[in-house]
Parts: sequence; structure tokens; C-alpha cells
Amino acid sequence: MSVAIKYPIYLDHNATTPTDPRVLNEMLPYFSTIFGNPASIDHTHGLLAQKAVSLARKKVAALIGAHEDEIIFTSGATESDNLAIRGITDASKEKGNHIITCVTEHKAVLDTCKYLEKNGTKVTYLPVDRTGIVDLDKLVETITKNTVLISVMAANNEIGTIAPLKEIGKIAADYNIPFHTDAAQAAGHIPLNVEELGINVMSISAHKMYGSKGIGALYVRRNVNRIKISPILFGGGHEHGIRSGTLNVPGIVGIGKACEIAKKEMLREGERLRLLRDKMVAAFKKEFPQVELNGHPTQRLPNNLNISFPGVESKAIINSVKEYLSISAGSACTTTVVEPSYVINALGFGRERAFSSIRIGLGKTNTDEEVSTAVEIIVRAIRGDTN
Ligand SMILES: *Cc1c(COP(=O)(O)O)cnc(C)c1O
Repeated sequence: MSVAIKYPIYLDHNATTPTDPRVLNEMLPYFSTIFGNPASIDHTHGLLAQKAVSLARKKVAALIGAHEDEIIFTSGATESDNLAIRGITDASKEKGNHIITCVTEHKAVLDTCKYLEKNGTKVTYLPVDRTGIVDLDKLVETITKNTVLISVMAANNEIGTIAPLKEIGKIAADYNIPFHTDAAQAAGHIPLNVEELGINVMSISAHKMYGSKGIGALYVRRNVNRIKISPILFGGGHEHGIRSGTLNVPGIVGIGKACEIAKKEMLREGERLRLLRDKMVAAFKKEFPQVELNGHPTQRLPNNLNISFPGVESKAIINSVKEYLSISAGSACTTTVVEPSYVINALGFGRERAFSSIRIGLGKTNTDEEVSTAVEIIVRAIRGDTN
């Protein structure tokens, strides 16, 4: 094993990413010297903060082809999902009480829907095929005159499958129903243009794209068919009254910088990670021809690999390589419960495959050498050799 590599190697970038040093540098002054409240603009301190927030808003908007007025800052994608789903459902009571989502959504979406169900909202959970792609025929079939929202994630956090966003956007537009997408995994990793894709509302999280934790955004379309959304937090009426609370200026400056960097670098970095990921798959297949790739073979995030080694329990592998590798069995939010992944279960291959799935999330700091080393370590762990 190389001495240059620092262990454990972090291979869980779908759970979170480290803050890019360029992002951190940009954020730092906003904790100390430029500490003003961007809502208190009677003086220079507030105005400087307001200027920084406004610039960050432009950068976030630029990444997704939106207008700066359409960006609401939140505490992360969980809040953005809650705000979008609860906010639109509440604001659309006169039109109806039915929302459509998908079985493989993140808990931030699913648990919000479950909460709404208890309060009388009807929710349809669309199935997915064996690659994790949502059933579009079912989507069309389940739309009724009471449908007020379609919420389908842009890319899955466990298996990396990218949804047919443009097709969903088209269906939503045909029926004049708002389309929300949870893009926590996709934004900053693959190109997303809200105009081209027909997305009306979109959740973003900074810490999934080399920003900091606790900051995110909600894109809400404002032109032509303005999306109506009720607030879930009440107070000073910040962010067009949709999200009250003093703005997290350092976080906002950081998400702005993260979006600016991603816009410039995501294609090249995505290509680098895709090659590394595919190299990993090939190496695993060579050692264990029976391995199964979970998710779509091509319509997937370039940095995500989800793989099942039949007959090998993923928890056992993950525990045995802990000293060397930080990898996960699925979503970070459910790993305290010994339950197979509901996402892999939804693909319909049976529980065995769900119990044996490992998620590897590559990122900016991973080198070619780290990836080869990781493969060696996992192969040895599966063979039962000592590392
Ligand atoms: C991480 C993640 C979230 C939650 O984002 P936070 O910013 O951590 O609240 C929601 N949805 C998906 C798909 C995610 O990957």
C-alpha cells in the first residue's frame, strides 16, 4: 500500500463533500469583518452583506439557468423539499389535494408526503423500473384534476440514476401542474437548466457540491405561471416572504462560490470521475463476474457507484475496511437502522441484493491511486483476507 495515501480514503461523496478551500476562503470574512445583517441596510455594514448575498444569488441562479429573483435561500435540501411540497400543497388547496412523487425519493420528500397524508392529502408513489427510472406511463395515468404537484428527484442519492427530467417537465407542462425536483445530488454535478427541462421548483444543497453544511436553496419559477408557495416559517418576511429568518451570509456566500466553481469545472471533473468509476466497475467485474450494478448503466451520476456482491453482506465489508475506506451501504440518514435499502428494494431484485449493496461516491479529492487501492482493499475484504 502506498505511503502517500492518507487513510481512511473518503469514498462517500453522495453523503457529503468537503468544503472546497476556495469556497471556505470566500466565506471566512463573512464570519468576522463583514458581519452585517443583509436586512439592515440603513448602514454600510448591512449593505456590504446585502451586496454579497445578491452576488451569491446571481451565481446560484447562473448554475441552473434561473433568474436571481427565483432563488430562495434555505438551510439545505431537507428544508427546500419541505418548503416546496408543503408550501405548494398548502397554497393549492382550492385546486386540489393530490400530489405525485416516487418510491425512491429521499426521506426529506417521502416523510413530508407522509405527514401531508395524515392531514388529508392524497399521495401517489410512482414505481421505478429495474434501473431506477420512474414509470412515466403511470405518471400520466395517475394525474387527475386534483393533482397540484409532481415531485421527482433529479438524481438518486443511493444509486445515482438520473430521472428523465425533460419528459417529466413536458408532462407537467401539458397538464399545467408544477414540477418540483430534488436536485441535491445533481446540481453542480451534471448540467441542469430549469428552462430546458421544464422544472418549476428545485431543491439544492451546498454540502453535496463542495459548499458548507446547513445552507441550501429553493428555485421557484416566477415568470408566466408563477408558482404559489406558502411559507412554513413565519417572521420577518425575508426571501419574498417565503422563508423568514436572518440570512446565513457566510453559507450563502459559500453556496454562491460553490455554484460558480461547479459551473466552470463540473463537466471536466464529471468526466474524470466517470472514468475512475468505470475503471472500478471493470476491476470488480474481473475479480467477481457475478457482481451486480445497481442503478442505470448510463443514465447515472458520474461520481456514483452502487454495486452488490451476491452472498456478501454489505455491512460486513464496510466494517472490515473501516480503517482504510469510508464507504456506505446506502443513504446516510437510515444507516443506524439495520434495514436493507428501500431504494434497492424498489428495483425489484429481492432483499438479498439490497442487503449486499455498497455505495461508493467519488469526489474531487480522490486520485487514480486511491481508487485502485480502494478496489484492492474491497476485493481482499470480500475474499476474507486480512488487509
Ligand atoms: C442530501 C440530500 C438531501 C438532504 O439535504 P440536506 O442539505 O442535507 O438537508 C435531500 N435529498 C437528497 C437527494 C439528498 O441527497
